[in-house]
Amino acid sequence: MTIRQLRNYIDGRFEDGASTFDKHSPVDHALIAQAHEASREQVDRAVAAAHRALPAWAALPVVQRTDHLLALADGINRRFDDFLQAEIGDTGKPVSWAGQIDIPRGAANFRAFAELARTLDMESYMTDTPDGRQALNYAYRKPLGVVGVISPWNLPLLLLTWKVAPALAFGNTVIMKPSEVTPSTATLLAEVAHDTGLPPGVLNLTHGFGPGSAGEFITTHPDIDGITFTGESATGAAIMRAVAPGVKPVSFELGGKNAALVFADADFEAAVDGTARSVFANCGQVCLCTERVYVQRPIYERFVAALAEHARALRIGWPDDADTGMGPLVSREHRDKVLSYFALAREEGATVVTGGGVPVFGDARDAGAYVQPTIWTGLPESARCIKEEVFGPVCHVAPFDTEEEAIRLANDTRYGLGASVWTTDAGEQERCVEEIEAGQVFVNAMVASTAEMPFGGIKRSGYGRELSALGIREFCNAKGVWIA
Ligand code: NAD
Repeated sequence: MTIRQLRNYIDGRFEDGASTFDKHSPVDHALIAQAHEASREQVDRAVAAAHRALPAWAALPVVQRTDHLLALADGINRRFDDFLQAEIGDTGKPVSWAGQIDIPRGAANFRAFAELARTLDMESYMTDTPDGRQALNYAYRKPLGVVGVISPWNLPLLLLTWKVAPALAFGNTVIMKPSEVTPSTATLLAEVAHDTGLPPGVLNLTHGFGPGSAGEFITTHPDIDGITFTGESATGAAIMRAVAPGVKPVSFELGGKNAALVFADADFEAAVDGTARSVFANCGQVCLCTERVYVQRPIYERFVAALAEHARALRIGWPDDADTGMGPLVSREHRDKVLSYFALAREEGATVVTGGGVPVFGDARDAGAYVQPTIWTGLPESARCIKEEVFGPVCHVAPFDTEEEAIRLANDTRYGLGASVWTTDAGEQERCVEEIEAGQVFVNAMVASTAEMPFGGIKRSGYGRELSALGIREFCNAKGVWIA
């Protein structure tokens, strides 16, 4: 098998890095790629190239600029299978997931933001001036400038493009740094940019890690005008400190410890099915995944049993098998973290309803990063397993009696990303939506996102909004104009 070489893309040219780092398959730990780690000097040159490209890119008529985005979307679709294999290779996620979500939505992000850039409204008012005249006030949007995009490994192409697409659409130039765990699809995106004629310097790629590597070089660079980051809350805090001396805009999509509230009057089958999907989607590695489930007491025992049935029925398998429902975690390092929570849960007093270990296949997958879908009950609310994000295929289920108690439990977390509510009572739906502290609330639906709905967190889950017309604010400066 050839080991793919993943190079940096700077000022329209692919470059080796100062050193390389290995990418292993999470399925069987085989070496699949080597990524070229960018040096500080290479990041400096990428930033300089992005600055040189900025004036012409920002000045392009919006139709021409967004034509480039449409070409990027088409370019991804033309190489759909390359992207699909790269994403599956990096993450081990099932082809059913990557083929229906990651890659199509990676392309669709460019279309959605091209459309938004072409149709965006401008705010305008007539104002009375102090001297009795009238003034026209309006605000229009200027690009931030050179934007650093730092993305995580769980939905590598999807989350990278939902930052890169709006940044480019609104006239910014970009330095992107994908996660070191999933460097492949970003490299393909750079190839598509090259092949579709995106001007040199508009989109640059530097591979590497966080501290002491490309991540830190980007966040501390004096000539980067804004940072958009998705990843762990602790990393967000480190980046906030790093950008503070430059007083730069940052937008953060961070971790979660999302709750689902299941009321006794809910459509039982829909609630079980939706909750199972929300817990185990992408092996629990979606920031919106449910990790805390609270069920009203009359249906609690039945719900736990039914959810456990779903977990046991999940087909754990090879990612390229169309029937696989759950693949491995992204890496053996991440599996060690998840397994440490499996051990901690037992110490903290959990009852392991199902799972709690590592599946044995008797083939090459035993060297990979698989874990069993897992359900706990019986933990006290103070347990670390209830408080900390595990980011694996696991949830804790606990009973509640009243609506007030359910909302209090849902809000008893430092995070505030997503929450689900399962009930047929309209009043209950309304009060839960109103009182749950989260960036998005899903009613009788599994967790999801679309390009049209604003997406983001509160509390330690971040701030700023992505996607939708609100999301573009993160990539623009509004300039207010007053004409008397
Ligand atoms: P991570 O924070 O470890 O890494 C994310 C990115 O930041 C990587 O590219 C990494 O190299 C870089 N990085 C790490 N330290 C850095 C530093 N000091 N300076 C600059 N860059 C640095 O996150 P991860 O493990 O890749 O992703 C999983 C986490 O992301 C989970 O907590 C998950 O909840 C969160 N997440 C949140 C959302 C959301 O929208 N809220 C979406 C997906 C993932």
